[in-house]
Parts: sequence; structure tokens; C-alpha cells
Amino acid sequence: MQEFFGLQVTGKPDRDTLEMMNKPRCGVPDVEQYVFTPGNPKWKKNNLTYRIENYTTKMRQTDVDEAIQKALNVWSSVTPLTFQKTEDKIADIMISFAYRDHNDNSPFDGPNGLLAHAFQPGEGLGGDVHLDEEETWTKDGRGYNLFIVAAHELGHSLGLSHSNDPGALMYPNYAYTDPKEFLLPQDDIDGIQAIYGQSNDAVQPTGPTTPQVCDPNLTFDAITTLRGEMMFFKGRYMLRKHPERSETELNFISLFWPNLPSGIQAAYENIERDEVLLFKGNGI
Ligand SMILES: [Zn+2]
Ligand SMILES: [Zn+2]
Repeated sequence: MQEFFGLQVTGKPDRDTLEMMNKPRCGVPDVEQYVFTPGNPKWKKNNLTYRIENYTTKMRQTDVDEAIQKALNVWSSVTPLTFQKTEDKIADIMISFAYRDHNDNSPFDGPNGLLAHAFQPGEGLGGDVHLDEEETWTKDGRGYNLFIVAAHELGHSLGLSHSNDPGALMYPNYAYTDPKEFLLPQDDIDGIQAIYGQSNDAVQPTGPTTPQVCDPNLTFDAITTLRGEMMFFKGRYMLRKHPERSETELNFISLFWPNLPSGIQAAYENIERDEVLLFKGNGI
């Protein structure tokens, strides 16, 4: 603790230490960020090739091509990396749909559970992405959205591990975002740029950051009560505060209301009718 606050490390509760301990502080654990894959593997070149080895029966081929292309763009638009599609036998990143045991000691488990996995940069299996053929792959909010899952897996293919930032694409749990509204979060941009450097564009892309409860500059899109709780809306997030609980809960809006867009502009509760009204644009 003394080290964290830049005090002399004595191991004793001396005057400076007690003073620091008595200062008001945020109860939210200090948020960690992106994580590199152990050993910091990375591609030694910026121009990579990829190949889609087979297709799922759940989606049209053109929709699969589009989802993979869009997932690769997520990473190429914030780095100097480029991805060239190839039909050659060997590509840096081989993408395939696989069923149960597929000879890499990481069998899939049928519907739900494990959705996909990917290998860190390297030869052979390195960089490859395997998707569980038994999932309901889609191009929208039903089942599992192929674009969202592929974009996350490609982060592994490029050398990122799981992030501790709940809003990051590299957070381990699947969270649906409408692909049309998807923006790569800043945590992922920081992570991938720490490996490959900035994009070649004159203006560097930036992404949304996860709201932090104790950020003194935090602003909200809309606020309402809901059955005794306070709901704060911000981008694709919702913060819930119960009057009898000290912690504030951070969730994606889509977790509670899968069909709602992000960026709610106004909200209020009609207690008599037990309704909450949320507004964006000209409609409810
Ligand atoms: Zn596999
Ligand atoms: Zn992952």
C-alpha cells in the first residue's frame, strides 16, 4: 500500500501512512486494463494473410465473408496492420468452423459454453481462429453474432489476452453490440497499439471508454428512478444505484433491454403505471 501511494516503504503505520489511510478514497477497485499474451508474441510483419477454410451452415457465405472482413477491419483501422484474403493453402490466420474434437486438444462443447478460440501469433496453428460449428451464428442480435466473436478472437490472433475492463472487446464474456453501432473501445485500441504502434492515418482513431463510477468528470446521457433504484445511462452502459447498497452496478443496457440502442437521450419513470420511458431521437 505504501508503494502504491508512493510513500517510503517501511511496513509500519507511520504518520505519513496513517494520513494517507485516512483520506477519502474510492471503493471501486483500481481498474486494470488490457493484458498481453504471456511472452508478448507478435507478428513480425504488418501485412498478414487470412483464409476462410470452411463455412457454417447457419449463415449465408457472403454474410460470413462480410462478418470476418468487418472483424479484421476493427484491428486494421487502428494499427499499421493489413489483412489480405487468400485462397492459398497456408495463410497466417486460418479461420474455420470446427465440431467437437478437432485435433488441437481443445474440443468444443456443443451449443453455448465455449464459442470459439484462437491461437497467439506464430507458425502453424499460430494466429488461427476456430469457431464452434454448433453455435447459432448470426449477423444480428439472435444467437451469437459472428462479427463480435470473430473480432474478439482476432484480438488473440494478434497477441492480446483477456482484458479486465468490462467494456473491452477483449473482456472474456460475450456481450452483444449491434455491429452497425460497434466502436472498438479505447482499452483495446491502447492494447493493440502498444504491440503494433499507431495507425498510419493522420488522425488517430479513439474509442469509447468504460465509465468509472468515481470519475469526477463523468457525465450522463439520461437519469431516471426505477422501482426505488437510480439508473444512469451513458453510451451503451447503465449504472444502477440502490439506496441501501454502497456499490454501484455497471452493466450493458443490452443486458436488460436487448433491443434498446445505446445513447439514450432522456428517461423517466411513471410510478403509477410501473413504466419507465426511454427516449432517443424522435421516438420512444
Ligand atoms: Zn481449435
Ligand atoms: Zn478470448
